[in-house]
Order: sequence, then structure tokens, then C-alpha cells
Amino acid sequence: MKVFNFGSINVDMVYRVPHLVQPGETLASRTLETVLGGKGANQSVALARAGVEVHHIGRIGVSDQWATEQMAAAGVGMEAVEQIEGPSGHAIIQVDDHGENSIILHGGANQSFNREVLEKQLAGAERGDWLLMQNECNDIEVAFDIAQKRGLAIAFNPAPMSDNVRQLPLERCSVLIVNETEALDLAETQDADEALAVLAERYPETRLVLTLGSKGALLQHAGNQVREAALPVKVVDTTGAGDTFVGYFLAGLIQGLDEPSALQRACRAAALSVTVAGATPSIPTISVVDRSQD
Ligand code: ADP
Repeated sequence: MKVFNFGSINVDMVYRVPHLVQPGETLASRTLETVLGGKGANQSVALARAGVEVHHIGRIGVSDQWATEQMAAAGVGMEAVEQIEGPSGHAIIQVDDHGENSIILHGGANQSFNREVLEKQLAGAERGDWLLMQNECNDIEVAFDIAQKRGLAIAFNPAPMSDNVRQLPLERCSVLIVNETEALDLAETQDADEALAVLAERYPETRLVLTLGSKGALLQHAGNQVREAALPVKVVDTTGAGDTFVGYFLAGLIQGLDEPSALQRACRAAALSVTVAGATPSIPTISVVDRSQD
């Protein structure tokens, strides 16, 4: 059983500045760091480090071959990823001396999908394989449709949340992973427990997972609820915690763990990720996660 992860690959350009640039101002940055990002890329790396076979479905600008190589080096199958003319998805991130940031996000290649491209990229997917998606690429609804026609199991993480998510046939998801904001938004309520109850009633067949940051995570499936507390850790950088969780939770199910064990291991992996700076560099390997349990 393998995972096809249809998701974003972003080039994050991080500029260190004395203050966030003001209207009309030209400001020299002190440093520039260019790093791999995007929820799609992060989740593919998490799946690979958790030890499952993952093939990324994505598009990237021809000038960013390095990002493809980094994902491949992490163990992600990159043979279906297309390099296209035009910019990759990228974020221009200013960080000031107080750690405050401002971000310009450009979808670029992540917003250039159509049915023909997706059919071709998913040619290797067979009945019973998984299709994982987030919400940073266009034509997610087309991917839902292809998955249904091909008999692929769907795992979806509707992040970042936007109005298009409401139009998707979410009842087809075998796994739906949401954070608190996404859950409240989808369920149209102000209370996290109520949101989970509403979603459970709306999608009775789906394994629903609600991540709650430093409060851990909740899983609801077939009338059962499992709650897992977060490990107490020293927080360095929470970027990528949600992506680590998604990759490890899905990997756990594929590797045959029962739901509480998959949830527990995903929480452990995500907690470890917040103790290290950066997104992909902070995603632990399965051996580190297992060893942390001793
Ligand atoms: P997102 O980053 O997508 O908003 P969350 O903030 O809910 O998602 O975090 C995802 C998971 O990461 C949580 O369910 C938890 O397991 C882990 N996590 C996040 N923040 C912490 C923290 N401060 N301490 C321990 N674990 C954390």
C-alpha cells in the first residue's frame, strides 16, 4: 500500500530585517535564507521519515530542482512531480528583530493543475492506495473525483481552510485531520468538542482527528473517542508540527497500528518536531520517535 500525496512544494525565502518594511520604504535585509516549505512537501517528508512508501504529486518551477532533490533525499518518490516554466509556489517572509513576521504567498506552480495533469501524475495509483491532500493546490475537487473513480482511499487535511472546502465531498474521506480553527470553521460552531460531534454526525464513516496544539489530539471514529495528551516539551518552533502529525498518523494506519497507537505515535512525533527549528529539518525519523519512548 502506498501513498500519493497531492500537495504544494514551496520555496520559502526568509529575509531578516530590522523592522517590517513600511509603505513606500526600501529596506535592505540582513540575511536571506531559502528553504523548502509547503504543507504538501512537509507531509511527504513526514510520511517518508515514518517509513511508508510515498509518491509526491506536484509541480515546481524548473529553476528549483534543489527542492526536488531535497525531497528525494528524504525518501520521497518524486518521479511524478513535473518541472514547469514559471515560478514555483513561494513565500517571501520578513522576520524582524522581535520575531514578528509578514508573508507574501504566491501559489505559482501549486496553482497550475488541471484534470489532465492529475490523471497523468496519478497513473501509478492502484485500488487500495491512499491519496493524501491539503488545501494549498488548485483542483482538489478533481483529485477527489479521480480518487473515487480509481478506488483510492482519501486522507484530507483542509489546511489552510478556505470556502472551497465546503463544496468538497468530505464524506468520502477515510481520514480527515483538522486543527481547532479548521474544525470550528467546518462545523460552524465556537466550541471544539461540539465541532467534533457535529463533524462525526456529518461524516459517520470517516476517521476524524482534531489536533489541539499543546493540548494533544482527539480521534473520533465509529462512535468511539480517543484522547491523547501532548508530550510536555520545550517549544522552539511549532512550524510543521501539524504536517508531522498528519504524516505520522496516516503512516501509523498504513503500518497496521490500531487507532489509539497511531494517534499516540503521531502526537509523539509532532511534539519532537516542535523542539527543533524549521519545518522539514524538524520532522523526526521513525527511529528517533521510537527511541524517545524508552
Ligand atoms: P497546526 O500546526 O496544524 O495548527 P496543532 O497546533 O494542533 O496543528 O499541532 C499539531 C500537533 O502537534 C498537536 O496535535 C500536538 O500533537 C503537536 N503539538 C503542537 N504544539 C505542541 C506543543 N506545544 N507541545 C507538544 N506538542 C505539540
